[in-house]
Amino acid sequence: MSEQPNSEAIVRCEEIEQLAVLLACDELDPAVRSAVNAHASECAICAAVVSREVRLHQEIAAFDPARRFIGSFRAVAGAMPQRAWPRHSMTSRRG
Ligand SMILES: [Zn+2]
Repeated sequence: MSEQPNSEAIVRCEEIEQLAVLLACDELDPAVRSAVNAHASECAICAAVVSREVRLHQEIAAFDPARRFIGSFRAVAGAMPQRAWPRHSMTSRRG
């Protein structure tokens, strides 16, 4: 067992989910980010969570590069632009 000097930032499994979102958005403190990565390297479940969030964030960024800095998928979903369907004009008929 090799003890590291900077082992103050300990990340638990129940914290990974929200930290993974921030990590994917690159909004995490370097110390916390390294702690998340360290945990993910030893915990397969959390590694899957992190990679899922990173992939999700990449898909969102690819979908709309202007929203790549938004912190969560929920925020993006709330600000989703309306789809501009061409309106079928049936108003020529006079009643
Ligand atoms: Zn874990």
